[in-house]
Order: sequence, then structure tokens, then C-alpha cells
Amino acid sequence: MKNLTPKGIALRLSLIVAFAVTILVFLSEYFSESIHFLSLFLVFSSSLIISYFGFLIAIEEFIYKKIKLIYRTIHNLKLKKDDALAEFSLGKDIISQVSDEVIDWDKKNQLEIERLKDMESYRREFVGNVSHELKTPIFNIQGYLLTLLEGGLYDEKINVDYLERANKSVDRMIALIEDLDIISKLESGILEMNLKKINIIDLTKEVVSSLELKAQEKKINITIQNTLNKPVWVLADAEKISQVLVNLMVNSIKYGKEGGETKIKFYDMDENILIEVADNGQGIEEKHHKRLFERFYRTDRGRARDSGGTGLGLAIVKHIIEAHHQTINLRSTVDVGSTFSFTLKKAKQ
Ligand code: ADP
Repeated sequence: MKNLTPKGIALRLSLIVAFAVTILVFLSEYFSESIHFLSLFLVFSSSLIISYFGFLIAIEEFIYKKIKLIYRTIHNLKLKKDDALAEFSLGKDIISQVSDEVIDWDKKNQLEIERLKDMESYRREFVGNVSHELKTPIFNIQGYLLTLLEGGLYDEKINVDYLERANKSVDRMIALIEDLDIISKLESGILEMNLKKINIIDLTKEVVSSLELKAQEKKINITIQNTLNKPVWVLADAEKISQVLVNLMVNSIKYGKEGGETKIKFYDMDENILIEVADNGQGIEEKHHKRLFERFYRTDRGRARDSGGTGLGLAIVKHIIEAHHQTINLRSTVDVGSTFSFTLKKAKQ
């Protein structure tokens, strides 16, 4: 009875009925001892035709219409259009057709539910992380203000110091809000990359000079090693790539050792240019490498140091590089140093 069409079902049922009726007529004729084969043939064929159409109408009325309604509902939900209904006719295996559609629909629904669940847990985790990050600076500010209000304002030894500390916490909150703004724009895809031909050496020089003061504070020497000995043209969004370089260099300073060095190197990789930012700082344990580019992920060492970072720097870097359809990698050894390397597409000369 597998893969039966409504017509097939009607035919089988009407054959059973026709045989039953014919046998009854045959038996009654047999007992009255007047068997007429022509009348038996007429009984068989007429009962076959009548019951065939009867069953077909019944199937159409009571089953087919209802299944068609289910089919149409699923189909519309699935495709938001019902063009495939044209193919849906009495001659086809309607039950298998509907069951295939239901299985397919169920699979798609399961995937959609999984996606929604992931989004929900991502949203919950994100809100938790943001409120956790905001808590520290807000409580710090509140602590300084309360001390000042309770008389500290008139104490020459602490008043300016506490105001400066409160201001630092405000700076930290602003940095967090700015990073959150960038990351939400990058994740929602509304931040389009403005790709232009840029000389990556010049851009790197600009970033290095903007970070000179910060590097000097830790006596870290930042050097650019252009082994290619010529301008290096890449196709990139200058502003975003400068943000990538800033984030990587700031990290190399923050997690670098006093008196250490950060080297920036460029390699020709056929279609791409590979840019490396290498430090000889504290390094990162292998177990963290996989998750390091996640939002708010910090290594235990990074956390212990409380670098004042937002925990979003590397997540932003990864998003920007991926928006350029390129990749970023990390090589690192604890107490030896870390090398972050990413590629950019070469621009035509
Ligand atoms: P943060 O604001 O905490 O610096 P990031 O996303 O920039 O956030 O970095 C995530 C974590 O990766 C840091 O907290 C730190 O533990 C680790 N990290 C990043 N860069 C380096 C580096 N150059 N050397 C050692 N650890 C690093």
C-alpha cells in the first residue's frame, strides 16, 4: 500500500466492492439455478465504475481537501508562496508528498529554533558581560564621589587625586561604549568597508608615531621592518586597518615587558601581504589561543594585570579582518612573546 495515489486507492477499493457484489449476485443466481454471465459482467462493471467514482469523490471531499489545506499551510509557512500547489493533483502520491513536506518543514524549524536559542544565549551572555564590565568603573566613581562629598573635597591631599581617578574610570566607560558601538555595527553588518588602495607602510608609521608616548612609558621600542624596501600597496579600509594596528600594538605594549620591543614586519604572499605584529612580552598559553578573539575573553594573566582594556580589542580586530575577507593568526609562547599576523589583499600597482 506504499506510495498510493488517491486514484489508486479508489481503484483498489472499488475492485474489492465490485468483486464482493458480483460474488453475492453469483451466489444468488447459483442458488436460483439461473446463472447469467452477461448480468454478472454488467453487475461487476457497473459496481466497479460507481464505487470508483464514489470513493474518488469521498477521498477528494474528506481527505484530499483537508490534506491540501495542511499542505498549503505548511507550504505557505515554508516558502511564503504557493506556486508548487499547481503540481499537487489527484494523480500524484499526495500522502508521500505531504509527509516529505512535513519532514522538510520540521527540519527547517529545528534549525531555526537552534539559531534562535543560540542568539538568545549570546544576547544573555553579552548583556551579562557588558553589565559586569560597567560595574567596576561605576562603583569606583561612586566610591571617589562619596569620599569627596563626605569631606574629602576639602582635603588637599586627596581631592584632585580622587577627581583624576574618577575621570579615569569615566574614560574607561567611554572606551567600553565606543568599542561596543563598533562591535555591534560590525556584527550587524551595517559598517561597510571603504576599500581603497593604501600604502600600508605609511599607515603603520602613522599608528606607531601616535603610540610613541604610550610605548615610552614602558620603555618599549616599536620598529617597522620593511624588508620589501618599497611602498606596499594593499586594498583596505584605512580607518579600520589603522584601528586593527592600534589594538594589536596597544596590546603589545600592555602585555609587553618593561624595556621590551614590538616589531612590525611585512611579507609578500603572492596575492596578499602578510603583516606581523610581534612582541617579546608575557606571551599567551596555548589553551587560550582558540578563544582569544571572542568578546570579553581574557587570559588569567591579562585579567590579573587589569590592563584597563575593554576586552573587546581582539574581537574588533577579527571582525575587521574578516570583513576584508582575510584571516588573522596567533603564534605565542609564554614568557617569550606573541606574534599576531594578518593578511590584506594586494592592490594593483
Ligand atoms: P583587553 O582589553 O583585555 O586587552 P583584548 O581583546 O585586546 O582585550 O585582548 C584579550 C586578551 O588577550 C587580553 O586580556 C590578554 O589577556 C590577551 N592578549 C592580547 N594581546 C596580547 C599580547 N600581545 N600578549 C599577551 N597577551 C595578550
